[in-house]
Amino acid sequence: MTILNIIEAIDRWGMEEPNRPVYIETNRTYTYGELKKDSDAIATYLQENIERARPVVVYGELEFEMLACFLGASKAGHAYIPIEAHTPKERVEMILEVADPAVIFSVKEWPELETTAKTVSLEKLHEICTEAKIATTLKPVVESETYYIIFTSGTTGVPKGVQISHTNLLSFVNWELTDFGITEGMRFLSQAPYSFDLSVMDLYPALTSGGSLTPMRKDVITDFKQLFTMLPTLEIEVWVSTPSFMEICLMEPTFNGEQVESLKIFLFCGEELPNATAKKLLERFPKAHIFNTYGPTEATVAISGVEVTQHLLNEYNRIPIGYVKADTNVYIMDGDKEASDGEVGEIVIAGPSVSKGYLNNPEKTEAAFFEYKGQPAYRTGDAGKLKEGLLIYDGRIDFQVKLHGYRIELEDVDHHLAGVSYVKQAAVVPKYQNHKVQQLVAYVVAERNEFDKEFKLTKAIKEELRQTVMDYMIPQKFIYVDQLPLTANGKIDRKGLINEVNAT
Ligand code: AMP
Repeated sequence: MTILNIIEAIDRWGMEEPNRPVYIETNRTYTYGELKKDSDAIATYLQENIERARPVVVYGELEFEMLACFLGASKAGHAYIPIEAHTPKERVEMILEVADPAVIFSVKEWPELETTAKTVSLEKLHEICTEAKIATTLKPVVESETYYIIFTSGTTGVPKGVQISHTNLLSFVNWELTDFGITEGMRFLSQAPYSFDLSVMDLYPALTSGGSLTPMRKDVITDFKQLFTMLPTLEIEVWVSTPSFMEICLMEPTFNGEQVESLKIFLFCGEELPNATAKKLLERFPKAHIFNTYGPTEATVAISGVEVTQHLLNEYNRIPIGYVKADTNVYIMDGDKEASDGEVGEIVIAGPSVSKGYLNNPEKTEAAFFEYKGQPAYRTGDAGKLKEGLLIYDGRIDFQVKLHGYRIELEDVDHHLAGVSYVKQAAVVPKYQNHKVQQLVAYVVAERNEFDKEFKLTKAIKEELRQTVMDYMIPQKFIYVDQLPLTANGKIDRKGLINEVNAT
């Protein structure tokens, strides 16, 4: 089945089978009928009160209302921006400054923040949905209009808003529904926060194929006992997560195909899938299909994938990142020209799922996006090569890293660390184990201070840093130095520091 329109494909279930489950909480199941009714009401509210196309912020975690707001915004021609409720205030402020949204739907309580946008509380949202006033003609997001905007870490310390259009999303959804054995009405795990584009890997393929989402929230994930008592009862069929989350689950011996019988498909994305993790998973779930997929937010979630079999694991020490989807081309570039066959170079993605660029950021857009052979193209910053049609990953060519699947520009952390009152200068570097970042290490030249112990200074720095960066961006280790090493041309020698940290 090819989907021609995301909104119509979701609404079809609401009209034809309103009682079909769409969002399954422990003590409540929401239906497609409810999703249609609520999103129509939200769309009507937006269409009657807000200028079309201005972005809409949706602030919260994994709640049914988040879905209703996303769909409501799309139905009225607005791009939506998901912001996770734990985001530090200063970061939310930066996003608002870039995006200038017209409305903020705060599914979770909105922080005390000055904004010119109209804020709609959860109570007000429920009122809008209860009144259920429906406009007869809604003007939804179409074609190249922006469907959603996801903010990622930016090297200058200001997050970049990746704009994904309806066309981009369609290309991704149709590929996922075709190439991974997904059938109508499957139950998907929803674990990734909506502000992380991995969530799109469960959200839209599930909703367009009449499937359902089962949210697994942070409080469950951090409570092992709850997590493993709950897992077998959820009857999840399609698992979507980072490899890091799977590694946590594999620590529990009862997480296997006998105890959690329902699991049929595992989709991984967002970071390297280690061979050992995949091997263990295959042993535990011999009947399931496991896929490694790859892609940046800028090309809509993922653009390549491969089924991980015992044969593949035997053949490759580092698991390939897959075959490129049919409508897309990958070029391995050496600067501005294509590298010779089999050589490692920068992965450039060209095709219909490549974004139009970063919201209100022409400089960064121009640096990464261009047209290549008549298609929109994106320079990923990833190194790789092609071998018999299979894409092989070979790390980054810049200072972007992944920690537990989260994308972090090291310069972003440096920037905010340098803004901390106790810090004169700082450089953050990754410590690796088997190609995976284990921790972030901060080299810091401290300001003169009154602390008698380094750990007290570290605690104070972390506390201040927490005001401006996400929790996962806070370095785990601090090393205090009198000065940072410089390269011959006077820049901080980050590569030297990376070697130093990884020497042991
Ligand atoms: P994000 O935009 O958060 O999805 O991050 C995209 C980046 O994550 C890519 O550019 C890669 O560096 C990395 N990445 C994503 N998937 C994989 C994978 N399967 N293997 C290795 N790295 C990956």
